[in-house]
Amino acid sequence: MAQHFLLSARARTLSLKAIYQAGEDAAYKTFCDLRWTATSGEPVCPRCGCLDIYRIDTRRKFDCKACRHQFSVTSGTIFASRKMAFTDLLAAICIFVNGAKGIAALQLSRDLDCQYKTAFVLSHKLREALAAERSGIVLDGDVEIDGCYVGGHIRPANLKEERVDRRLAEHQTGKRRVVVAFRKRSGRTLTFVRRQEADGVELAKQYVSRMAVMHADEASHWDALHAGWQVGRINHSEAYSRDGICTNQVESYFSRLRRMVRGQHHHVSARYLHAYADHAAWLEDHRRLSNGSLANRVAGLAMAHPVSRQWSGYWQRAA
Ligand SMILES: [Zn+2]
Repeated sequence: MAQHFLLSARARTLSLKAIYQAGEDAAYKTFCDLRWTATSGEPVCPRCGCLDIYRIDTRRKFDCKACRHQFSVTSGTIFASRKMAFTDLLAAICIFVNGAKGIAALQLSRDLDCQYKTAFVLSHKLREALAAERSGIVLDGDVEIDGCYVGGHIRPANLKEERVDRRLAEHQTGKRRVVVAFRKRSGRTLTFVRRQEADGVELAKQYVSRMAVMHADEASHWDALHAGWQVGRINHSEAYSRDGICTNQVESYFSRLRRMVRGQHHHVSARYLHAYADHAAWLEDHRRLSNGSLANRVAGLAMAHPVSRQWSGYWQRAA
């Protein structure tokens, strides 16, 4: 029997041992190389693009000779104002990508021996950076569409006579959301958080090429898709797959998302559900890459990503 990819040595190309053995200077160099790829890690002034730079090596700062702008390797990136050591930052990325269904911020805080708040914001910054990879993507080919409801659970009352019909609108919490996902077979997964699955039809107009062949289940709101696309419908009460029509790939994605939400985070707020949905989609789309390639990709995306408007100074604003 063929060995599963994740069991093979090819899946493991980076370890915490290697990161800490290589040390702080090597980790710092990794970030310089990722930030300034065109100059092989030589600093470039982020303000004026000048290459003539004074180095303040003791503080790992740079001073532009032309415009006197002082900067560091993380200035202007999502890691701006970082306090964590570069080894710890790299280790955080390694742990983050090793979690095939994500990682809880509490667990990351224990692994790195940092505050929960630090781990929470760092994880969300990484999610924001990797979500940028999907910008501008329009799917073509065979595209499966489906929705998955998350959150808004109502705990049943202890006594039977006090229990309510949790299906009724008046008993809902208003926190329930649906993750609508489009998954191109052997391609990318795009996810969106909405209140109703039917909103997927409008999203399809934006993110799915008219040349694509769509696959959807029997839910009646997908009937509207037939006006714009060739659509294969699969009635799940009869079969999960018939004549090549199925939504199995998008269901696999939802399986990973559900395991992430239930198994790692236990609860996610509707406000940040989109970030977890993107994270699970990214993991799903890159599931056959080694953990070294994944870490490299996340670190590269983070170093190319501007300061986060949502997550920079999050706890200072929250306080
Ligand atoms: Zn400058």
